[in-house]
Amino acid sequence: MFQKVHLRLTFLCAGVTITIMLIMSLGYLKVSERSLKNSHFTSFQKEMNTFINTLEHQTVITPEWLMNVGIQGKYQIQIIDNEVPLLFHERNTKAQKELFRTAWNYYETHFKIAMVNSTHTIFHIEFPFSSNEQEKDDYYACIAISEQGNNSFQALILAPLQQLESQIRTQRILFFILNLMATIALSLFSWYFIRQLLKPLEESQRKQTQFVAAASHELRTPLAVILSCSSALEQASDTEKKVFLDSIQSEGKRMSRLVDDLLLLTSSEQRRFSICKEPAELDTLLLNAYEVFEPLAAEKSIQLLITLPDTSIPACPCDKERIQQVIAILIHNAISYTSEGGHVALSLSFHKQKYFISVIDNGIGIPDEEKKHIFERFYRADPSRSPKDHFGLGLSIASEIIHEHHGTLQVKDTPGGGSTFTITLACGHI
Ligand code: ADP
Repeated sequence: MFQKVHLRLTFLCAGVTITIMLIMSLGYLKVSERSLKNSHFTSFQKEMNTFINTLEHQTVITPEWLMNVGIQGKYQIQIIDNEVPLLFHERNTKAQKELFRTAWNYYETHFKIAMVNSTHTIFHIEFPFSSNEQEKDDYYACIAISEQGNNSFQALILAPLQQLESQIRTQRILFFILNLMATIALSLFSWYFIRQLLKPLEESQRKQTQFVAAASHELRTPLAVILSCSSALEQASDTEKKVFLDSIQSEGKRMSRLVDDLLLLTSSEQRRFSICKEPAELDTLLLNAYEVFEPLAAEKSIQLLITLPDTSIPACPCDKERIQQVIAILIHNAISYTSEGGHVALSLSFHKQKYFISVIDNGIGIPDEEKKHIFERFYRADPSRSPKDHFGLGLSIASEIIHEHHGTLQVKDTPGGGSTFTITLACGHI
């Protein structure tokens, strides 16, 4: 499912950005082509202005003079003096003569009136024109005319636009290559960006699925016991009935505890987990927990010890019930994973405005590679060694609660064997 979403979002993201980029760069290309053409035409006009100005003071026109003023060789020129073409015209090819005729025709149809009305000694006009009607402009033309009495002078200068066109072509190829590279880069970036964006969602969905699967698995065992006991009830003797009813009751309680744990974890995930802080005497909380678990420890021949600060410590702003719940989880685990004859020690200390509650056991301990997993939901280091009423949720609930208090819950090895869990809470404001 995520792969499909990934692909679609990549197409959407890359599609939109690439379209915007193409529209903008096409616009830029158009503007830059137009300004390139304009500047070419303006520089042609300037050159022609200078040429005509020099021409006005010239009495003899030769190819050498034209070469000197930078016209000959660069442009195609036709000069007619008193209806007589200058000699160097004879070198013009047939195609060139045809080209000049087309340029004159173009001038006659489009600009003649403007020229006739002009009052300058030499009238001149520059215009772009196409040698072939169907195609776009391929020349800039300048026509200069002087008619004074019986003397007449006409000049036609044609500037081919191949160089400009090849410049435009190069610009377009560059534009295409750059856009292609940008398209590839944007597509790759979109692919990577969407991947990074979807990763947490994918991870959260994976965890959710795992959570539901694990929860269903845990619920299945007590349900199976309840169902089998209830179906066996019909033919059971009175003594057997009592055993079955006890089983149903204890499995029902187990289920109810599991459902409570699941609800607590779900509400913490949806940020509906409420912490009600009030000043609490942590030594009293620890002492209460000691009293509650003392019988259980004694049942397993485990020595339960407690160490409290000698002097009184300030009340801790926390949710009393929740912290009690965390302490209970830690003591319950410590007793569960410590063999007979072992001992579990509870300790409370206050140092640098921080409270430290430790539950130290000398039980089976937790291998280093397991330590980072034990706070995960439904994680049990060795399910076969976990007691029946341990679902692998205790430490994840404990760490959620401590996290909501902005504190920390850490585990390390007890020197000599076993585990030490330490809760750290800050002595902040409520
Ligand atoms: P559980 O309810 O199964 O104890 P927890 O989340 O409380 O689940 O603990 C997860 C796992 O961490 C346990 O299955 C156990 O393997 C390990 N663990 C927790 N506390 C201790 C401890 N005091 N000593 C050894 N292992 C422990």
